[in-house]
Amino acid sequence: GRSVHQIQSGQVIVDLCSVVKELVENSLDAGATSIEVRFKNDGLDSIEVQDNGGGIAPENYESIALKHYTSKLSSYDDLTSLTTFGFRGEALSSLCAVSNFHVITAQAHQAPKANKLEFEQSGKLKGTQIVAGQKGTIVSVANLFSRLPVRRKELEKNIKRELAKVVNLLNEYACITTRVRFNVKNTDAKRRQVVLLTTKANSTVKDNIANVYGAKTLLTLIPLALELEFEPSATGKRLNRELNKIYVKGYISRPVVGEGRGTRDRQMYYVNSRPCGIPQIAKAFNEVYKSYNISQAPFVLADFQMDTSAYDVNVSPDKRTILLHDSAALIESLKEAL
Ligand code: ADP
Ligand code: MG
Repeated sequence: GRSVHQIQSGQVIVDLCSVVKELVENSLDAGATSIEVRFKNDGLDSIEVQDNGGGIAPENYESIALKHYTSKLSSYDDLTSLTTFGFRGEALSSLCAVSNFHVITAQAHQAPKANKLEFEQSGKLKGTQIVAGQKGTIVSVANLFSRLPVRRKELEKNIKRELAKVVNLLNEYACITTRVRFNVKNTDAKRRQVVLLTTKANSTVKDNIANVYGAKTLLTLIPLALELEFEPSATGKRLNRELNKIYVKGYISRPVVGEGRGTRDRQMYYVNSRPCGIPQIAKAFNEVYKSYNISQAPFVLADFQMDTSAYDVNVSPDKRTILLHDSAALIESLKEAL
């Protein structure tokens, strides 16, 4: 029968997007400057994420896939000033439960020897084996959801749409991370390789946008640099004056009536460089453009830099939707500034 563990796993790993998001965030947390994502058969056969980050310390091999194990949170206080993406220790344990999962990892002093780690469904370490490998970590996820027939069927049915969603998500990470080289490929059922995304390390956000959306896109963009100050609303958490400053940085498309064809796939929002959904803010941008009689949704890359006490990241299991404590006040001053 289905264990409680498998049912709860649904919380973090719910689709192809959540697999890729969790693995890429782990690579970013590990300090990687190169991240490769390889899909086989659109991800139905396997998903592999390879990074050149710090690797996993041997003393952690036993625990990394156990539920709630994380090496990233040393005290409860850390939760309020979170700087890493991960902190729940649920991704690898969920992946063990819902896929055929293994890890190959090496710290700098171990390379060119690496350790292949295999796990039981429960997350318990089954065995390790020495293999060849560079510094960094490869996580392989095969046969996603094959033990959950209903979810597997759903995945197969929607796989093209799912993969498109994944590419959009990876675009968001690739555009904002200037330190990191991204390379994303799919090998289809006929063994043809298609490159879905490439960016370079040591780039600018502009370089990244050109690589992701085409150099032509840059011609339509203007820099976005706003400093917003707002009074906390009555319902908002009381913050001191310094904390009521928000810096918005990025690029938006030049508001020319009738120009181009913007789509909402080209709107990327971040809080402290973390890709996320802030629905009210997306709405604000679109309304401002509409008010100038511009019917197309604009291109938006907007990074909201603010004190971590001004929002919650852990309102949704995938940490994607951000809850701003003072969204009404922020949106007012954003609309004014735009
Ligand atoms: P979390 O990211 O919340 O800590 P995960 O289940 O995603 O939980 O990962 C568990 C642990 O495995 C991490 O805390 C980290 O120590 C280790 N780990 C996972 N992926 C990587 C990676 N790519 N590089 C180095 N360590 C990793
Ligand atoms: Mg993680």
